[in-house]
Amino acid sequence: MSGTRAARNFVDGAWAEHDGALIDVVNPATGQVVAQVADTPAEEVDRAVRAAARAFAEWRFSNPTVRADLLHRLADEVAAREVELGRSVTVEMGKPLGEARGEVRKLALALHFYAEEATRVRGSIVANTEEGFTSLVEHEPIGVVGAITPWNYPLELIGWKLGASVAAGCTIVVKPSEYTPTAGLLLMECVEAAGFPAGVVNLVTGAGATGAALTQHPVVDKIAFTGSGRTGAAIARSVPNVKPMSMELGGNCPLVVTANADVAAAVKGALRRAFRNAGQICIAINRAYVHDSVHDEFVAGLVAGAQQLVVADGLEQPDADVGPVTNQEILDRSLAHVRDAVDHGARVACGGEAPAGAGPGLFLSPTVLVDCDQEMLVMHAETFGPVLGVSRYSDLDDALQRANSTDAGLAAYAYTQDLGEAFTLRKRLDFGNVAVNNVDAGIINAPYGGRKGSGYGYEHAREGMDGYLQIKHTRLRHGA
Ligand code: NAD
Repeated sequence: MSGTRAARNFVDGAWAEHDGALIDVVNPATGQVVAQVADTPAEEVDRAVRAAARAFAEWRFSNPTVRADLLHRLADEVAAREVELGRSVTVEMGKPLGEARGEVRKLALALHFYAEEATRVRGSIVANTEEGFTSLVEHEPIGVVGAITPWNYPLELIGWKLGASVAAGCTIVVKPSEYTPTAGLLLMECVEAAGFPAGVVNLVTGAGATGAALTQHPVVDKIAFTGSGRTGAAIARSVPNVKPMSMELGGNCPLVVTANADVAAAVKGALRRAFRNAGQICIAINRAYVHDSVHDEFVAGLVAGAQQLVVADGLEQPDADVGPVTNQEILDRSLAHVRDAVDHGARVACGGEAPAGAGPGLFLSPTVLVDCDQEMLVMHAETFGPVLGVSRYSDLDDALQRANSTDAGLAAYAYTQDLGEAFTLRKRLDFGNVAVNNVDAGIINAPYGGRKGSGYGYEHAREGMDGYLQIKHTRLRHGA
């Protein structure tokens, strides 16, 4: 075992040593245990929530410039530790180091963004029904946030919640994924160095039971969840009292390539958005609907490109394109989706197995399945691995109907050079994020959220902070 740190949580501005049950953290590229972290029990979660509640009493009234200053400082701490934070992500979830360092830089940007937003909260004075009265509408922080995050973007997904909630004047307790807890713990070292008041930001490690102790805690005022639809639904059913929640859940994202597409650009986009992070992205392209007239050209380009992607341990080869998948469940599900497609008549155009000489880790070559139909799992259930199903279409209405036919509503992609077609696609794709002629659907300046089975609530942009604010209307009688 290497890189082990003593098991500890960050609670009330200090490191709380933990001598109870531990969780092994495994490097998916090697199968080796790289750290052990606390499997935090409910009593310790309670301590963190109560610390956050105590801190909220003052933090809610703190000057927004103070919050902004601390968030800028946190962003600078993060940027200064880019390599160390990036390595922790690579070692515990497998994304190549170059990509992991990119995640750290985007985290710093998000924190700077919300530092700025902290000072831009504004209210309004609205018309009253009588003379001598004034109605003031203000935004106030909701309170203690319980944040539950997954493993695929271990730092950014904490950062969006932390940045937006703290900027709004909330305090937060984070429970990161049990697969990627050490990145979150390192981020707390940055929080400590930035000098936040005790209790404003807290983090406890653990698995589902620790998360449940947080989401079911009566003193938590708002739940911010990112993860699978199954866990999101379990949390929604289990909360003991009424409280606001945001649910950033799974996707199953379609790509529509029309007869008027720039096929080379569509191929490039598909390669990036289907296989980056080994396909473990909620907005990954899972399924492509390609017009008959460009289908063969698109598939040939896709297969040639997929076969050139370098699959490797991203610590040893920092510029590799694809690392291992993060856990056995993802590998099993990816292979099950390939088998299911083949059993129902699809063909494996490339991939479908571990690359030669990949070593003991959880590697799967980028996989393209052709001749897929909608009943195959790959075309309607989230794979969350490096597998892309391709299907032909001849009528755009039919492609749109199939693209919209699943429960997912997170992101959709389209390639066309025809302006009318671009607008039709934009209008009729029933997803929270639609990218046309590009595949980067999420930018920090624009709201990002799902619909249908992909959840509700927004991250990024001003709307990401609105989720941590509540409105107060004051009706003031002054007689003027
Ligand atoms: P998961 O649902 O298994 O786990 C997510 C988190 O919930 C983990 O921290 C886990 O410990 C915790 N948890 C598990 N059971 C719990 C319970 N009963 N109560 C409280 N917390 C509990 O998801 P995952 O495998 O970590 O992540 C992959 C999923 O996340 C995919 O479906 C992916 O699409 C989704 N995701 C969505 C977005 C988005 O923005 N919409 C972003 C990233 C990932």
